[in-house]
Amino acid sequence: MPRLQTTPPHYAYIRIAEGCDNCCTFCVIPQLRGGYRSRTIENIIQEARNLVAQGVKEIILIAQDTTQYGKDIYGEKALVKLLKELVKIPALRWIRLLYCYPNDFSEELIQLIKSEKKICKYLDIPLQHADDTILRKMGRRITRKEIEILVNKLKNEIPDIVLRSTFIVGFPGETEENFNTLLNFLEKMQLDRVGAFTYSREEDTPAGKLPGQISEKIKEARLEKLMKLQYEIIRRKNQEYLNKEMIVQVDGPSEDDPNLWLCRSEGEAPEIDPYILVHSCKNFQPGQLLLVRISHIQDYDFIGEVVRELT
Ligand code: SF4
Repeated sequence: MPRLQTTPPHYAYIRIAEGCDNCCTFCVIPQLRGGYRSRTIENIIQEARNLVAQGVKEIILIAQDTTQYGKDIYGEKALVKLLKELVKIPALRWIRLLYCYPNDFSEELIQLIKSEKKICKYLDIPLQHADDTILRKMGRRITRKEIEILVNKLKNEIPDIVLRSTFIVGFPGETEENFNTLLNFLEKMQLDRVGAFTYSREEDTPAGKLPGQISEKIKEARLEKLMKLQYEIIRRKNQEYLNKEMIVQVDGPSEDDPNLWLCRSEGEAPEIDPYILVHSCKNFQPGQLLLVRISHIQDYDFIGEVVRELT
């Protein structure tokens, strides 16, 4: 069926699978949406071709766990195979991967992201925590050490990669020590984008029945502390971008100021990451590429000046 596009004309999400086979103890999604069910490569490619024919330049692949793609229908993970087909679509500019479970990165996937120009050097890998006791209680099937090995490998192999993750604070039984391990991990790993949430108790989940539920006051205090630390990390890291030239895609004008353009580079996903803000009285088209120089940094936002129009 032709699909109704609700995003701006130059980017679109494609859901490559439904459901989830993981057993995170805090999550109701497997109960609500059932087991992991991949769409076929042919079916996804057809949707991508249709979207590109309508003017889409950036496709964002989503699933509860994108790295798991294909295992149910092909008997093996097939994300690499899918990406190799997607990059063949001529007018497609960027392919972005969201929600990659950290356990399932193959060497082949890392090398493909590294070598293929159309695949954004950007990964969203929800990690949830970094303390081994909490990771085990969360049912995450990974240790801090394994996470660090993966993050370091991605950074070493793909030096300009932008890494995004999300974390939960105040999981049942989380001690100050467990929480401090998470802070220490963030300081050490220097992730580019971090989202954090307080643990939300779902009665029908194993975690909802665990003893040691944390008070809302403590959860909020931990969230504030984590975000403060991450803000300092980002403030330091962002200085590296000052005066740097970047290729950005125009998403559109700001609602408040028609001469303020909301743009993104490969390193920013729509709707979750901060924009690169560009002042110009020119009339840019959504999806247009610009070369900009970062002239100011304001909290999380980059302010850029147009060097030249690229398309
Ligand atoms: S948190 Fe994500 S990976 Fe874990 S069970 Fe829920 S949907 Fe699956």
